[in-house]
Parts: sequence; C-alpha cells; structure tokens
Amino acid sequence: MKKYVYSFKEGSAEMKDLLGGKGANLAEMNNIGLPVPYGFTITTEACNKYYEKGNKLWESLKIEIDEKIKELEEVSGKKLGSKTNPLLVSVRSGAKFSMPGMMDTVLNLGLNNETVDALSKSTNNESFAYDSYRRLIQMFGDVVMNIEKRKFDEIYERITKKNNKKEDVEIEGSDLKEIVIEFKKLYKKETGNEFPVDPKEQLLLATKAVFNSWNTERAIIYRRMNNISDKLGTAVNIQAMVFGNLGEDCGTGVAFTRNPATGEKKLYGEFLINAQGEDVVAGIRTPINIEKLKEINIDIYKQFAQYAELLENHYKDMQDIEFTIEKNKLYILQTRNGKRTTAAALKIAVEMVSEDKIKKQEALMRVEASQLDQLLHPTFDDNLLKQTKAIAKGLPASPGASSGKVYFTAADVVEASKMGEKVILVRQETSPEDIEGMIKAKGILTSRGGMTSHAAVVARGMGKCCVAGCETIKVNETLRHFSIDGKTYKEGSYISIDGSTGNIYEGIIPTIEPKISEEFSIFMTWADGTRKLKIRANADTPKDATKALELGAEGIGLCRTEHMFFQEERIPAVREMILAENAEQRKAALEKILPMQKEDFIGIYKTMRERPITIRLLDPPLHEFLPTDEKSLKNLSKEMKIEYDKLKIRVEDLKEMNPMLGHRGCRLAITYIEIAEMQTKAIIEAAIQIKKEDGIEVNPEIMIPLIGLPEELTYIKDIITKVADKLIKESGTNLEYLFGTMIEIPRACIVADDIAKDAEFFSFGTNDLTQMTYGFSRDDAGKIIEEYLDKKIFEKDPFQSIDQKGVGALMKMAIERGKQQRPDISLGICGEHGGEPASIEFCHEIGLDYVSCSPFRVPVARLAAAQAVFKDDCKEY
Ligand code: ADP
Ligand code: MG
Ligand code: MG
Repeated sequence: MKKYVYSFKEGSAEMKDLLGGKGANLAEMNNIGLPVPYGFTITTEACNKYYEKGNKLWESLKIEIDEKIKELEEVSGKKLGSKTNPLLVSVRSGAKFSMPGMMDTVLNLGLNNETVDALSKSTNNESFAYDSYRRLIQMFGDVVMNIEKRKFDEIYERITKKNNKKEDVEIEGSDLKEIVIEFKKLYKKETGNEFPVDPKEQLLLATKAVFNSWNTERAIIYRRMNNISDKLGTAVNIQAMVFGNLGEDCGTGVAFTRNPATGEKKLYGEFLINAQGEDVVAGIRTPINIEKLKEINIDIYKQFAQYAELLENHYKDMQDIEFTIEKNKLYILQTRNGKRTTAAALKIAVEMVSEDKIKKQEALMRVEASQLDQLLHPTFDDNLLKQTKAIAKGLPASPGASSGKVYFTAADVVEASKMGEKVILVRQETSPEDIEGMIKAKGILTSRGGMTSHAAVVARGMGKCCVAGCETIKVNETLRHFSIDGKTYKEGSYISIDGSTGNIYEGIIPTIEPKISEEFSIFMTWADGTRKLKIRANADTPKDATKALELGAEGIGLCRTEHMFFQEERIPAVREMILAENAEQRKAALEKILPMQKEDFIGIYKTMRERPITIRLLDPPLHEFLPTDEKSLKNLSKEMKIEYDKLKIRVEDLKEMNPMLGHRGCRLAITYIEIAEMQTKAIIEAAIQIKKEDGIEVNPEIMIPLIGLPEELTYIKDIITKVADKLIKESGTNLEYLFGTMIEIPRACIVADDIAKDAEFFSFGTNDLTQMTYGFSRDDAGKIIEEYLDKKIFEKDPFQSIDQKGVGALMKMAIERGKQQRPDISLGICGEHGGEPASIEFCHEIGLDYVSCSPFRVPVARLAAAQAVFKDDCKEY
C-alpha cells in the first residue's frame, strides 16, 4: 500500500517533492543530529489525493496518522489529550518551494480545558499555559475557521487595556483566562460550534486547513509570480511543541547565516525573549538583534553559531534558520536556503567559490537571471541626499531607492498604479493579503516588524525597496494618513524611501545610476566564459549603444530606424516625404532626411566599431507620423502649404482598419522604393566614411522587416544591392555588409529555404511572430490574456515568454529550412523575448547564434545564456 505519512527519521533533504521543503529539511536535520523536536510529515501526494477526493481526508490516511502519533508519543514521553502530561503539537505547512507567509501554521494543538490545567500544573506556570491556549484558539480560529484575526486582537486589547497591561509578557494568568473565555465565545458566535476539545479532531481539522491553504488566492498569486506549478501540493508537518514562551530563559528567533541584504559573511538575525512562533515576524514587539544573545546567554549563542555553520556547510548555501529556546535549551525548528537580494546572491555565490564550498558552475546557477537587472537600478543622488534631512528612520529591509505617493491599503495601491502613479505602500505591517499591492508598489514602508517581517522578506524577494519597523511614524490605515512628531502626511503625499539606509524623506529625490560591484564583474566573466549564445542589444542611438556596451553587449541586434524619424526637427521632412504626390517630390524630401540619417549611423558606428550592427529599414505604417485631429491638420496644411482638404483626403487615405497587418514593413519599401534607397545610401555612405576617416571596419547588416514571400525579398534585394554596390565600387573600398531579413510572419518560417536564397541572416521578430501565429493583436490582447491566465488556458503570457510549442515550432522549422539552403546562415532573435530567461534557454536549445534585448537586460541575457548551458533546476529558493 502506498505510504502517505513519514516520520522525521524516514525522510531526508532529497525528498522535497514528497515531503515539501520544510519536512525534508526537518527530517535531514533530525538525522544529522541537530536538536529538532520530533514529528512526522503528511506528503504532498496526500494533498493532491485530498483534492481528488473532493477535499476529504480518507480512512486509511487517518490510520497512518494515528500510527505516527503513537510513535511521537513514545519518543516524547507525552500523550495527546493526557490529563497529566499532555503532548502538544504544531501543524505546519510546507511545499516544495518555500512560500513565505503563504501557508498558515497552527501551534499548541492538543490544548483544551483539561489539558491546559495539566500543562499549568506540570510547568507550574498558569499564565504560560493560558497564553498557549489563547494562542491556539486564535490561530485555529483564524487559520482553520477563517475568523477575522482582528476580532481576536480587539478582545485581547480590550481585556489587557482594562487591566492596564502594556506588553503581552506582563499579562497574568487571570487575564489570560478571561481572554480564553472571550475567545471561545467569539469562536462559537462565528462558527456556530464550540471550540473542538478533542485533540485529534483539532489535528485533522488543521491538516485539512493546511491542504486548503494551497489554493487560497494569495498562494495562487505567489505561485504565478514565481512560476511555481499549481500541481505540486503542500505537505503537512506535525511536530511536538517546544516553548519559547515559558519565561525569561526562553525565546524564539530567526537568523541567516549571512546578511541577506548585502551578502556579508556574518550571522544576521533577531529574536524575542519569552515569545512564541510568529511573534518575531508579526511585528507585535520589536525584536532584539542576535548579537545581543551573546550578552544574554553566551553558551546558547555559541551553540547557535555552531549549528548555523554546520547547516551552511551541510547545505552549501546560506541558510535561513528558525529556532526556539526553551528553558535555556536550544531547538532548531526550520532551515532553508535563505532568500536574498540579488546583490547578496552575487556576493555569496562568488565568496562561496573562493571558500571552496561550491564550483563556479554551481555559483552561476545561484543567481536568478531575471533578477540581475535589479542591480542596475538607480539609487538616490548622494549629493542631494546630504542636503535633505530624513524625517524618520526605519530598518533597511530591502535595498534600492524610490519616491512616490503614499497609499495605505493594497487595494488603493492597485487602483492608483492603474492610473500610472508611482506609489509607496505604507502600512503598520504587511500580511499575505497585501501581496498584489506590494507587487504594484514602487516601495514599501512599515511602522512595525523587523528585518524578517513579512514586508521585509517579501520585498527582498521581489527586489523592491523596503523600509520596515519605522516606529517613529504612526500609521492610521483607516484614516489613510501617517504622522511623524505631530506632522501628518495624507494619502497622496510624496515621500522617498531608501531601503539601503532605512531613511525616509519628504518629497521626491532624484536618483542616480548604480555602481557595479567587483563581484558582479567577476561573476559575469564566469557567465561569459560559459555561454554559447552571443548577446546583442536593441539600440537606436549612440547613447543606448554606449549603455549596451557597458553592460556587455557584443553587437546591435536591432537598430530601429523609425525612432530616428520621429525626432522633432526631422518630422517636417518626414511628413513632406509621406505627403509627396509623386516619386520626384518624395525624392526631394528624402534628400533632406539623408544627411540626418547618415549622421545617426556614423554615431552608432563610432560607438560599436567592428561589432555587428543590424539595421532594420523603416517598419511602421506611415500614418503614425501624421496628426489626426483637425487643429493639428490645419496647422500642418499651413506649414506644408498644402490645401486642407487635400491633406485630409491624403490622411484618410493612409488610414487602415488593421494597421499592424497593413502597409508597413517591407511593404513600404516595395511601394516607396525611394525610402529603401535613401536608407541604404545612409547606411553605406556612413560606413564608407568611417572606414576612410577612422580606419574602422564597420559591419552593417541591412535587415528587411515583415517578409512573408521570397519574392518580396528578391525584389528589395535588387534595389538595395544596386545602390550599395555602386557606392562601394565608387568609394574604392572593399566594405562588406550583410543582407538579411526578419522572420516574423508565419509564412516566412514555412518558406524559409526560399527566403534564405537571398537572406544571409535571419532575425526572429517574435513579437510579430507571436501576434500573427495566435491572431492576437499585441496591442489589444492584454485583457484576453489576463483572462486566459486566470482560466488556466495560458500557463504563461506568450508575449512575455516564447510559446515553445507553437511559435517555437515555427522557429525550428525556419532554422532547419534556412540552414538547408544556406548552412552558414546567421541566426538571431530581436523580439522582447530576447531578454527573458526561459526564452533565452529555448534560443540556446534551438541553436541560435545570438539573442538581442534592451541594454538593461543584457546582463540578464548573459547569465541566462550561461545557465542554459547547464539546464539544472536553478529555482531552489
Ligand atoms: P512558516 O512557514 O510561515 O515559517 P512555520 O511552520 O515555520 O511557518 O511556523 C512558524 C513558527 O512557528 C516557527 O518559526 C516557530 O517559531 C513556530 N513553531 C512551529 N512549530 C513549532 C514547534 N513544534 N514548537 C515551537 N514552535 C514552533
Ligand atoms: Mg518557518
Ligand atoms: Mg516586427
């Protein structure tokens, strides 16, 4: 019979699929001799079966659970429900990938009116026993029965206030008894039932709740954001309780083996004395730095530091460790590979290689490629910062800098960002319900909670700047304002927050480009030494080209010429060209554009020198260059000295029902060959000039967009080579250039062999190719795609990540047929996909020579291309 429950001694770190990350690591730690309270794990397969059975636990599973409880009772020497020595357990969720805050834990199961007295007697500590009991009712009510947590908090506050107590540690047994009674009343009122007294019933209900939490909205959003499959399921861990809330010689905390924000190799964490479970992360009390543990109990500190080192060496990665101290005895409750900022990930990866803990290849897999561009994001201008006084200071929870308008609820943030506003989410503390608002916000500021609070952990994961635990600000979420020393900041006020220092400023502070760290350079050299794909950038100006080179681009894969046409001083000549009534007039207008266009290319050539530069001839429909409203048209008619009515007719003439499928791309060159001639002239003349004047061998590649028919390409090639070859001959140089095409119409993929007769290179334009393969307008399909994602018709947005099955198959066909015709054909991609890691991996697999992406994505592409070489699962944390 299939086994659905494993005790810790039966598991190991390799069994994450089955036991979840938490369960597998609990088993591993138990088995390498660390002090882990004993327990067992109900598998992820059980979770999936639970859903198959219509959200029901089945008989044989319950029997398996019973057996494991018996084992646990024997190991712990306590008994579930015992009136003298009761066993209490926690029920903890844990999926394969850690999903912080997504799944809910219930502590102290096994307490009821009888066992609470037994606990009180056996520990001789009534307030502890009742504190544990009230926590159970509250957590159970919240997590299992969905009673609003706030309602419990209100009762708690009312009773403690009435009895004039400030911190929860000062609360006495009698108050807690009263709170327990009120909590139970609330429970009954909200659920219609008494709080379950049978420990086993508590346990099974909590187990079900963990399974159910796999499919809460916030868990689903998190999974979608992190590309985690919905099919994995979560495991449930049932574990004997240890108590950090038994007195002043007890406590609970969280620590990282290295600094998760900077990567510095130093124990980093915090803890609370006399507290339990989530108290540290919930931000109810502000925790103490782990360094202070040295003063409080040096032995425990040393022991902890030793375990931390042991765990880091064992897992060969930075660990995030949860611990509890019960009566001066240390227990380890969890370890996992710690989440970290990209800067920290780089530093840790590079240092672990020099510490001989991991190999370079492993190091390359430790940094998520898509996150690399975080490092390239701006910080506040230091000079301006010096003149600006911070209005408050919190904890530097996640580095980066941002300015924006303050909003106080996740929903408001979502609304405001829809209006295009830059928003800072300000809250007392965040919780998983705020996830969407956190995604949309430019920065996060909280008044409570420490470096491991929900806000801090989630923001670091997202690479978003965050200041946490800024206690000097008083946040009123209901009235939507916060105040500092009596000054109030209302919703919509501008503030700036610095996640690297924790400082908060009034107003907007300009930001500057970041410096690139030494580790970054070392790391990227490793990536460059590994990857097979070349990386080019999409750049239309010398400025973009310079940035691209700085970030490691090896060429330009797409230089769009239309951006050059849109410049203000050029647009009159461009319009003259468009409105020309015959070829003569058009030529005259183009003559004016030629020198400007030539200047553009000279600038780019000088920057790129011998590196390849793919220049695409004019692509967009011409009406994009013309105004449409009456007033602008009238002005234009005056300027161009064209009758208004005539102008209007011409503009109407250019209008199309489906411009994206209309008169654009190579169709323009075919209709107005003078445009193609002028552009060729500019490209070639500029290259000749540079060659003669600077001795630089430029490598231009002339690229024709939107080819669907080989005949189109032949027609255009004839025009272009005539112009180019004549110029080259006249110049007496031996300038070389390539002639090729974009592959972005499905038909082009099918007839790629014929196209390759004329094309020396293919560059996949996967934006259009996706649009035309699906028949989805990429400008309008956003809403439909959202819906398809919601309804799971799409797993990923095909405009973000290449649809490998459909669009990818067309690409493969084009490559195969193109190579048949021309074995040395050069192959690249220049759509948005060229900067997306999964698509880059695909490009590597199908044998492209290069990918081209926007300059800021170049480092992402360099790393993703290296990771594509080893295709391991690099999503451990
Ligand atoms: P999360 O996945 O959100 O980190 P956990 O399952 O780790 O949730 O539980 C949260 C906290 O509850 C732990 O960090 C620990 O402090 C406490 N906890 C869980 N199980 C036990 C236990 N058996 N004894 C004492 N504390 C526990
Ligand atoms: Mg935990
Ligand atoms: Mg295109």
